[in-house]
Amino acid sequence: MDLQALIRDVPDFPKPGILFRDITTLLANPEGLKIALDRLVEQCTPLQPDIIIGMESRGFLFGVHLAYQLGAGFVPVRKPGKLPRAVHTVEYELEYGSDRLEIHQDAIPEGARVLIVDDLIATGGTAKATAQLVQQSAGELIGFAFVIELNALAGREQLPQVPIVTLVQY
Ligand code: IMP
Repeated sequence: MDLQALIRDVPDFPKPGILFRDITTLLANPEGLKIALDRLVEQCTPLQPDIIIGMESRGFLFGVHLAYQLGAGFVPVRKPGKLPRAVHTVEYELEYGSDRLEIHQDAIPEGARVLIVDDLIATGGTAKATAQLVQQSAGELIGFAFVIELNALAGREQLPQVPIVTLVQY
């Protein structure tokens, strides 16, 4: 099945000149959703993660399913101020200004094999920042998985040298 055909292109969102790849149409399609989740599980199984990290918020949609299917735990990475206990924080650059992400300091057991999951990699800034959170924790980063990769932005070149699973490339 062609997953790309189920992803909707929205011009000029969230601002003029940006072509937004909208996965809500893929999520809403029963067959497409099943195939996307099954392919993620199949391609991530050999990596044998102990912990899946999903980034707020669309990383949660795929991360929890992946964790359940692989017998791993799920750990959320969140925007500032959302997590109730002590956090590690990373600041990263956006096109205009900067943003922060947080993870609970005690979320990743020492030596755990960690796989980072999100819906899409564009410039790689979000995934790179999340990898830095893993480095502040006691875990071992063993890979990344994304449903969509925007090749022209070369986001994967920002990332540490570990396996990267992607299902749909533009
Ligand atoms: P990056 O940090 O530039 O790689 O951007 C990736 C983050 O922005 C991910 O968390 C995505 O959910 C979000 N994102 C960027 N572009 C798009 C898009 O076209 N569609 C959906 N999400 C996007």
